[in-house]
Amino acid sequence: LIERMRQYGETIFAEMTRLAVETESVNLGQGFPDTDGPRSLLEGASRNILAGVNQYPPGPGRPELRDAVSRYRARHYGLEFDPEAEVYVTVGATAGIAASMLALVEAGDEVIVFEPMYDSYAATISLAGGVRRPVTLRRESLSGRFTFDPAELRAAVTPRTRLIMVNSPHNPTGTVFTPAELEEIAAVCRENDLIAVTDEVYEFLTFDDRRHVPLATLPGMRERTLSISSVGKTFAVTAWKTGWVTGPEPLVRAVRTVNQFLTFSANGALQLAIADALDNEGEWIERQRLALQGKRDRLAEGLTRAGFEVNVCEGTYFLMTDIRPLGYADGVDVARALPRQAGVAAVPAKVFYDRQDEGRHLLRFAFCKKDEVLDEAVRRLASWH
Ligand code: PMP
Ligand code: GLN
Repeated sequence: LIERMRQYGETIFAEMTRLAVETESVNLGQGFPDTDGPRSLLEGASRNILAGVNQYPPGPGRPELRDAVSRYRARHYGLEFDPEAEVYVTVGATAGIAASMLALVEAGDEVIVFEPMYDSYAATISLAGGVRRPVTLRRESLSGRFTFDPAELRAAVTPRTRLIMVNSPHNPTGTVFTPAELEEIAAVCRENDLIAVTDEVYEFLTFDDRRHVPLATLPGMRERTLSISSVGKTFAVTAWKTGWVTGPEPLVRAVRTVNQFLTFSANGALQLAIADALDNEGEWIERQRLALQGKRDRLAEGLTRAGFEVNVCEGTYFLMTDIRPLGYADGVDVARALPRQAGVAAVPAKVFYDRQDEGRHLLRFAFCKKDEVLDEAVRRLASWH
């Protein structure tokens, strides 16, 4: 293994899911739902496979899906993208993220990234030979939400800064950046001529009437932002690994140049079904949003009763909790012990930080599960301590 990748072992999601399976724990670690996506989506994919849609689709993606992506970005956000040149289909957001880093980051370039950060950002920046400049999201005591200090963001910019990675709705904190926060980021990008790469996989999973605002909608940002999303979270099919990148032609062309040699193309039969669902399953998405909001409240209430301090969650699948009120200090120790001791798996947020002390006491729980599963987890946690 090349030297710069040696710091990366097994991902925390794989480790915790394995532990959960071994111990027959309730798995609130890795974020995946335990119910399926819309019936029409599943039937559509099955139908396409049986109808013989089983050979390579075009590398950039089926035109039907690129058109549908272009349509929903216009419908929801007023962003217009040419489906031919400005939309590109990838093997999940994961491949979009990796191809973006490999396509845009020169060895030695610096990448600003908000921490805690989704694990693939650090690894793919390393793969590209880039250098991370973390900006830490901290819990604001008044609001209880995680956000950044604009001065810290500005201080992270250097002459070597090339790109800023922005994930909103944010995994694992559950923060949905406000227009004012996005404008702080946009201003830094415009003033320093930075590219933004946005991870918007939770774009439709926002709560309490909050709406996701893509960074690309801010003044001067469309021409410098590459937006990444995928089907997994929107339609509760995390195994489908189909994503898309949208942005100005030169940035999308860069990603396309790299990705054609990583995966060449994504699956075909699923792409057609996803295109239909993006056009027609808006009501399903809305019901899912409300259902998840109820699950967030259910788990937040249960975890609070069990003694955790639960932070504000504005979107995603995840609740960030503080274990210090329970008398613990290190989330990694707790996460490794919890499956055997309590029969519940969670994810320690510490592994998502460069400044690991900042996240030592934080444990992430996923609430994208059936109510009875959440209730069972809470029952177990209440008698664990
Ligand atoms: N980004 C974030 C923030 C995620 O939580 C995930 C996990 N699903 C991904 C990217 C990867 O998405 P995909 O499954 O589409 O590759
Ligand atoms: N996105 C999921 C999470 O944060 C995990 C995806 C994965 O296992 N890589 O839990």
